[in-house]
Amino acid sequence: MSKYPIKKPSKIELVKAPEGVEGPGFFATSLEKVVGLARKNSLWPLPFATSCCGIEFMATMASTYDLARFGSERLSFSPRQADLLMVMGTIAKKMGPTLRQVYEQMAEPKWVLCVGACASSGGIFDTYSVLQGIDRIIPVDVYVPGCPPRPEQIIEGILKIQQLAENESLRRRDSEQYKKMLESYGIDIS
Ligand code: SF4
Repeated sequence: MSKYPIKKPSKIELVKAPEGVEGPGFFATSLEKVVGLARKNSLWPLPFATSCCGIEFMATMASTYDLARFGSERLSFSPRQADLLMVMGTIAKKMGPTLRQVYEQMAEPKWVLCVGACASSGGIFDTYSVLQGIDRIIPVDVYVPGCPPRPEQIIEGILKIQQLAENESLRRRDSEQYKKMLESYGIDIS
């Protein structure tokens, strides 16, 4: 008998198939739904962590909370290979241009998760040197409140991003509305 017997029944759940038409030997669905399913379950985060909220993110990645369960264990420190920018911590105004450059270097489609009070609004640091919210320089998709937020809250934020990724139209990034939104941030879309 194996030293490590497999416990039954397994708690591992397979991702549900998207809506579609099923019959003996075939399953048909739309391209949009398949792409949404793939994007949702393979988000590659780029952690832009500057202070204490970053420590909570480390806990989120570690074994107890295990972000790998959501398909996001592959962190990317290269913007080109990331589609989820996670901003965690106090962002000084001097750091703003760097954050913006990282965002601009990420390929579409990309999402931004703003973690904690500091990244969302400057937090307790209402001072001359701290950016009062990263949405002053880049668009944000989901905000996670708290100082610091618990790992459960960070996971909740990622689940919300997953919902966006799953349900986003393939044409959204080409839409006039999206281009106007980027233009309002002065982001070059050419
Ligand atoms: S929100 Fe609180 S825990 Fe997070 S970086 Fe700011 S001071 Fe630290």
